[in-house]
Amino acid sequence: MAVSHLSEDEQALIEAIREIALERVAPRAAEIDHTGEFPWDMKELLAQQDILAMPFPSEYGGIGASELAIVMAIEELSRHCATTGLLLAVQQLGSTPILLAGNEQQKRKYLPPLASGEWMAAYGLTEAGSGSDAAAMRTVAVREGDRYILNGSKRFITNGGLAQVNSIFALTDPKIGTRGISAFIVEKDFPGFSVGRIEDKMGIKGSQTAELIFTDCEVPTENLLGHEGDGFKIAMMTLDRTRPGIGAQALGIAQGALDLAVSYSKQRVQFGRPIADNQGIQFMLADMATKIEASRLLVYNVAEMIDRGERDFSKYSAMAKMFASDAAMEVTNDAIQILGGYGYMKEYPAERMMRDAKITQIYEGTNQIQRLVIARDLLE
Ligand SMILES: Cc1cc2nc3c(=O)[nH]c(=O)nc-3n(C[C@H](O)[C@H](O)[C@H](O)COP(=O)(O)OP(=O)(O)OC[C@H]3O[C@@H](n4cnc5c(N)ncnc54)[C@H](O)[C@@H]3O)c2cc1C
Repeated sequence: MAVSHLSEDEQALIEAIREIALERVAPRAAEIDHTGEFPWDMKELLAQQDILAMPFPSEYGGIGASELAIVMAIEELSRHCATTGLLLAVQQLGSTPILLAGNEQQKRKYLPPLASGEWMAAYGLTEAGSGSDAAAMRTVAVREGDRYILNGSKRFITNGGLAQVNSIFALTDPKIGTRGISAFIVEKDFPGFSVGRIEDKMGIKGSQTAELIFTDCEVPTENLLGHEGDGFKIAMMTLDRTRPGIGAQALGIAQGALDLAVSYSKQRVQFGRPIADNQGIQFMLADMATKIEASRLLVYNVAEMIDRGERDFSKYSAMAKMFASDAAMEVTNDAIQILGGYGYMKEYPAERMMRDAKITQIYEGTNQIQRLVIARDLLE
């Protein structure tokens, strides 16, 4: 385990989350994957245990946890169920635009019900034609008196249709590129907001991924975040802060796969001895553990940079997300190999872990985009 600098209170909290994850989350993981239904019981559990309150300051009803504690919580939950870990990660993702750019009135209105877990949050940047090239979005927001009228759609939005609070990015001035993008808080009940297709996915099956459609959707001007034109900056600053959480999700999945591979290799007997007695298996386990530890150091390191208030952490955030997710893909693949044919069967969680690991290389910016972020920083 990497060295961490949590306060005593936060250490106790992470200990409690580790137990909750083992006792209450782990037994539900296979079923959530199997049914693909949103796990309302897990959402309630995280709300009751103040886990969803972690990203919010105490003056808005949260518990003001450090970023380090948040990534450790996502890791512990994802070790047993990546869908449940994502509940916390996306509560943070969808709320960070408000935390970063919201005015006092917006924070007072929206943060307390998000901190209590009564409401969920979503982050709507991606569109059908604009993924990696987020600035190529087409959704427009036109000001008419005391409201903006939004038209367009967002694709692949986690918690889409379930979240009461949606941080939505749209063009207020299509002619001036990224400076023409603005951010809005859009409530699910606003007129003209609707939900389109719900995606059928490879992994994180319990997480709802949906299309959001805006048809003359009416958003009060007081729901603009920051000023017109601030949207792209808010979107990128948000991702810089939340990518460590996706690194933590990957880290947790990988740790879960290693735990499984270690215990299985000690029990499975072939040629008259446990397969763990073979150096070939031992070397795989050693490589898996080393990749996980390196991921953990990267994820915890950037979380602590954020906690110290450092400003230039974008590159480290990209490194943590990229390395941990690539490692999770390799480690879960190796875990299946160590379990042999049993690893390929749904009877064991290894194959689910590999399917869940894959998304961490794709969302919040693909790993190619993380490499661009890192290289740009090196070359500027
Ligand atoms: C399950 C799921 C949940 C998601 N949740 C959300 C969410 O909550 N909110 C949200 O806004 N979005 C969300 N997304 C969208 C996600 O962030 C995008 O899918 C991702 O950014 C990639 O965009 P794309 O799928 O359009 O791929 P594309 O951008 O079309 O990329 C296709 C391929 O080309 C590569 N590529 C593109 N440009 C370059 C380049 N310049 N150099 C090298 N390679 C490049 C990519 O890395 C990728 O391999 C989610 C996606 C999924 C699958």
